[in-house]
Amino acid sequence: MSTIGFIGLGVMGCPMAVHLVRAGHDVTGYDVVPKGVDALVAAGGSAASGVPGAVAGAEVVATMLPQDEHVEAVYFGPDGVLENAAPGALCVDFSTVRPETSARVAAAGRERGLRVLDAPVSGGERGAEDAVLSIMVGGDEADVAAAAPVFEAVGATVERVGGSGAGQYVKAANQLVVGGTYALVAEAIVLMEAAGVDARAGLEVIAGGLAASRVLDLKRASMLAREFAPGFRIDLHHKDMGIATAAARSAGVALPMTGMVAQLVAAARAKGYGPLDHSALLKVVEDLSGRPARPASGPAAA
Ligand code: NAD
Repeated sequence: MSTIGFIGLGVMGCPMAVHLVRAGHDVTGYDVVPKGVDALVAAGGSAASGVPGAVAGAEVVATMLPQDEHVEAVYFGPDGVLENAAPGALCVDFSTVRPETSARVAAAGRERGLRVLDAPVSGGERGAEDAVLSIMVGGDEADVAAAAPVFEAVGATVERVGGSGAGQYVKAANQLVVGGTYALVAEAIVLMEAAGVDARAGLEVIAGGLAASRVLDLKRASMLAREFAPGFRIDLHHKDMGIATAAARSAGVALPMTGMVAQLVAAARAKGYGPLDHSALLKVVEDLSGRPARPASGPAAA
């Protein structure tokens, strides 16, 4: 059992930290917003009033922060992890950020005797609450092995995919597949509704064939009902499509479909849908076809 400092107790970080407490670890949490810290304390964790207090003496430092600038501030800042973590501490950054950011944090950590892993996750809020996240890990093999008890407490599928930053490349690949799938399911719905066919029955049969997907399984009812409460916000997916297009440039490859999906997500955001679930790509596709936006028809059937 480890002493863990957990920074960033939002939608994902809070349930993950609570699962670490339940697995028997001694978890001290910090967030600039008290809500997640209070929930962690209620579950048996402890509260810190800043990064230094959270990481003091911790064997493991876990971070789950929104974007690159937050990860940079929390690791590199004057009161940051690099300045304050105990030598030898294992730092696991679960945030989704650019591969270059993860590589920079890992290199700076190494200079200070810290072991740093990038470990972005897939599975959403539900996956965090049920401790069944998929975790794509970049870093040294021995460090990944040392972090196994932490990964086991929050995830179901854990794969080391390469050195520092590799986890972020896999997460970028994950997000472009998810975004592309939403865009095409949205187009399928618009086509079927415009043609006057039974879109519900249509999606049912599509979900039973080669085009089956988790997106169809989990979201077809809510998309048909125009229920777009998040879930995973358009704002965060916009950030991730930016990471994916930048990662393509770094890797020297052309990803035309990714570029198109990135523009659709950008359009969703420009239209003010940033706080909605990423399935709200449907609203953009409807608009492109001059289809009137349909009002929500109440909570979607499961
Ligand atoms: P969130 O905004 O709910 O949580 C992030 C938390 O970090 C917030 O509570 C915020 O107050 C805190 N924070 C920001 N700056 C801080 C600082 N300097 N010090 C301490 N705390 C600070 O975001 P989330 O949905 O939990 O997502 C976190 C990361 O996980 C993102 O990179 C996101 O892309 C990724 N992710 C999210 C989901 C999802 O479904 N929400 C799924 C997979 C991956």
